[in-house]
Amino acid sequence: MVQRRRCGKRSCRCAAGKQLHESIVLSYSEGGRDRTVMPAPDELAKVRAAVERYRAARADLEAEGNAGPAALLSRRAGTRRAR
Ligand SMILES: [Zn+2]
Repeated sequence: MVQRRRCGKRSCRCAAGKQLHESIVLSYSEGGRDRTVMPAPDELAKVRAAVERYRAARADLEAEGNAGPAALLSRRAGTRRAR
């Protein structure tokens, strides 16, 4: 997820509140507490890809959960999931 924040410097572009700094953070829960981690810059691409995959997979699951079994079957018959 993307977190927007101000760095606190008055001369910075973020001080006006229009262009805040964006940083990618991952949030997860560990031991019942919400935690966020900020990946290192060289990990960002990897992390971003992983997050996208996770989102896509979850959206897929939700779509299948919402569709009735019949709809699901007809969709499977009509489309090939080669990849
Ligand atoms: Zn700033």
